[in-house]
Amino acid sequence: MNKPASVPDQFDAVVVGAGFSGLYMLYRLRQLGLSVRVFDSAGDVGGTWYWNRYPGARCDIATPDYTYSFDPELEKEWTWSEKYATQPEILDYLRFVADRHGLRPDIEFSTAVTSARWDEQEKRWTITTGRGEEIRCRYYIMATGCLSMPKSPDIEGVGRFAGQVYFTSRWPHEGVDFTGQRVAVIGTGSSGVQVIPLIARQASQLTVFQRTPNFSIPAHNGPAPADRLKQLDEDRDGYRHAARWSRLGVPNEPTDVLGVTASEAVRRERFEAAWEQGELVGIVSVFADQLLNPASNDIVAEMIREKIRSIVKDPETAEALCPKDHYFGTKRPCLDTGYFDTYNLPHVRLVDLRKQPIVSITEDGIETADESFGFDAIVYATGFDAMTGALVAADVTGRDGLSLKEKWAAGPSTYLGLMTAGFPNFFMLTGPGSPSVLSNMAVSIEQHVDWVAGCLEHMREEGLDTIEPTELAESGWNQHVQDCAAITLMPTANSWYMGANVPGKPRVFLPYIGGVDAYRQACDDVVGQGYLGFRMAGPGGARCQDGVIRSMQPDVAMVLDLIAALGLPPMETLSADDARALMAATAATRPPGPEVGEVTDGVIPGPAGDLPYRLYRPAGPPEGPRPLVVYFHGGGWVLGNLDSDDPLCRDLCARSGAVVVSVNYRHAPEVRFPAAALDAFAAVQWVDANAIELGGIPGQLAVAGWSAGANVATVACQLARDAGGPHISGQVLICPVADSDMTRLSYQENGDGYILTTALMRWFWDHYADPADRGDPRAAPLRGDLRGLPPTCIVAADFDPLRDEGVAYARALEAAGVPVRFDRARGHTHTSVTMVDVIISGAPVRAGIGEALRDFFPSAEPQGI
Ligand SMILES: Cc1cc2nc3c(=O)[nH]c(=O)nc-3n(C[C@H](O)[C@H](O)[C@H](O)COP(=O)(O)OP(=O)(O)OC[C@H]3O[C@@H](n4cnc5c(N)ncnc54)[C@H](O)[C@@H]3O)c2cc1C
Repeated sequence: MNKPASVPDQFDAVVVGAGFSGLYMLYRLRQLGLSVRVFDSAGDVGGTWYWNRYPGARCDIATPDYTYSFDPELEKEWTWSEKYATQPEILDYLRFVADRHGLRPDIEFSTAVTSARWDEQEKRWTITTGRGEEIRCRYYIMATGCLSMPKSPDIEGVGRFAGQVYFTSRWPHEGVDFTGQRVAVIGTGSSGVQVIPLIARQASQLTVFQRTPNFSIPAHNGPAPADRLKQLDEDRDGYRHAARWSRLGVPNEPTDVLGVTASEAVRRERFEAAWEQGELVGIVSVFADQLLNPASNDIVAEMIREKIRSIVKDPETAEALCPKDHYFGTKRPCLDTGYFDTYNLPHVRLVDLRKQPIVSITEDGIETADESFGFDAIVYATGFDAMTGALVAADVTGRDGLSLKEKWAAGPSTYLGLMTAGFPNFFMLTGPGSPSVLSNMAVSIEQHVDWVAGCLEHMREEGLDTIEPTELAESGWNQHVQDCAAITLMPTANSWYMGANVPGKPRVFLPYIGGVDAYRQACDDVVGQGYLGFRMAGPGGARCQDGVIRSMQPDVAMVLDLIAALGLPPMETLSADDARALMAATAATRPPGPEVGEVTDGVIPGPAGDLPYRLYRPAGPPEGPRPLVVYFHGGGWVLGNLDSDDPLCRDLCARSGAVVVSVNYRHAPEVRFPAAALDAFAAVQWVDANAIELGGIPGQLAVAGWSAGANVATVACQLARDAGGPHISGQVLICPVADSDMTRLSYQENGDGYILTTALMRWFWDHYADPADRGDPRAAPLRGDLRGLPPTCIVAADFDPLRDEGVAYARALEAAGVPVRFDRARGHTHTSVTMVDVIISGAPVRAGIGEALRDFFPSAEPQGI
């Protein structure tokens, strides 16, 4: 069959897919006056809701939310009958939308797009369809869906079964009657959980084959939630705005209740409320830290397991249904209607494939390691090759013959999940690296479509006809996507979010978990900064504002936002005493850091009186003496004490396996330069002389410090060298103050907004040292003789005014022949690396510090964290 002769073969844009995304994209492109052709291999509009017709198929985001918002009239004309509408109703809705806007004439159904090739000369895509058509277009837009490519079951003998075979994702349009049949269902993900109770109503025998139990909560389906309808009636625009700027695409007040610190009563109350509410958004937000902290996650997970045990009567079946191999929420949780109850029916049986794996599908049924089962029908609910499957399968070839499949062989790489370098004018809607499946997709889809439409409009206005991301922008975004995932528990699961359900698929976290709101802001910022990271060209000229849109670690950014919201006075506007009080008050609210074996306080005789110290001894074996680390706290020689850096010292102790002796020193302005440096040197001498009494190994001594503490630590090393001892095995300098001129680029780039500011640094210097003294190497160690200093580990943070001092000091030490390990704290600020158990992304940096300390001491063994 060929397309009608009247249809041209040149279009401004080709869109693949006529589901939620493709329909709205077509609508917007038409609004721009572009000629568009949409292809879908389906026989009608609907996408997901065209294909997934199995009994029980429903959405799991409440329908008042899972809906378009671009057309206010449409919103008034359509009323959802249930909280979670069935597949037929959602399909009817999408048909209604297509008809209301007369979209069908531009859509070619039952037509697969089989390949697409970029012509660099013509600046056009050539699209080939399964019908043999060739269409040329300037813009190629894949609206092919995240969950549209069914995963073929990786089970031996799949083709052998002589009975009826069904796939939930390709269900027969005429429906299936299982009455009186012996039915097998393989798979217990979202589709399995929905279909199983309904098949159980008809089948004479139902056997469910389960590889991984999944968390599921009751949907409590019924009429659309009255409170939500009321809010929509009263202020539809406000409601939709709140959804667009929410974390998950559904208006929801974020909680600050932490699972680990909440009382048992609060935990129970919050959980039961979410269970009763029956919404994914609620159950994944019982606690603010449930996706970050394993202990908090366990609380929710165990309460769900309790519920499963209370519903399922047979204890063995109940236990098999209890998920224990992944944290709650790290695989997509399910919403169900009577799922667990179904296992109480006498004709329903669960086969746990972990105990009894499938050996093969046979002609009559299924053979497991222990049993042979006979069936009339097998239903596969085995899921999808999610997020990348449909994109890669459509054989897209960009510039220089590079295919998407080749480019993504090690995992997808995109800028904003919208485009990928080397593939000009190629857009993906809800592509990998965008919130997509971690959000209410109706909201995410509209945002993506609007962004693409806005981009094409901008290009037309500017006389530009090609666009693609730069490598720098793309790799920066990929890094950000992975950074966001890395601070959560998500990468720990063998989930389809990680590509783990498809054999051979690279294990990369596919969606963006930073939130719908954060993502929208990033997309808006890209536009606001002149399409940052995009290369655009055309008759109107060529332009490229290259750069990375988000390079700060996500948890660092969150903490900065929280601190900004507190509206605290700038430290430099306070007196030293008030600043100290403020610092002590904030320190009192933070987590304590890891447990160590022993903590004792004492005093060191300093040059002008006693210096308090706190000693941390690691827990566990080996017994006996350990290497010693003398640590100096940060605080610009003015602030800080043994308490201020206590969590960091515990962390260093646990990670290094060394005894850490944290020493307080005299502070400015009461006692000015060079008192702090002289105290530090005296402390190092004393610890060395008393190594045995302190439980240390004589001769195995390192120094460490953060910020001004790193300054006095390295000055102590210089003084020790000049004095001929003590021998220091190494120095760890975390974000050190190495110079005093405050002129380096990092002061310009990071001098404001990242807690340590240029103004604060000036305040510190003014308190500590007279301008005439600031060139003294005991104040500015970079200016000293660096030869013969011990091996050094320097940590420099990207968003630190002191960054370039650290870099310069590392270079100068290297030039002086000192072995240097330089660790860049990527995406961190001056303070964030030290925020133990607050900034999760700081842990790898501190692990590096622990490693550096252990390298100074061959005998060191960490206690483990
Ligand atoms: C059972 C199920 C329930 C879901 N429930 C929810 C929910 O409650 N909330 C939510 O937010 N999301 C849900 N989702 C996700 C759902 O996929 C999205 O919400 C949304 O429907 C996606 O729309 P789309 O247009 O982007 O993609 P799809 O609806 O998947 O449409 C893509 C279309 O592209 C076509 N296509 C792909 N490749 C080609 C090709 N090469 N040639 C021609 N055509 C092609 C496909 O045939 C398909 O029709 C659910 C998914 C499933 C499977």
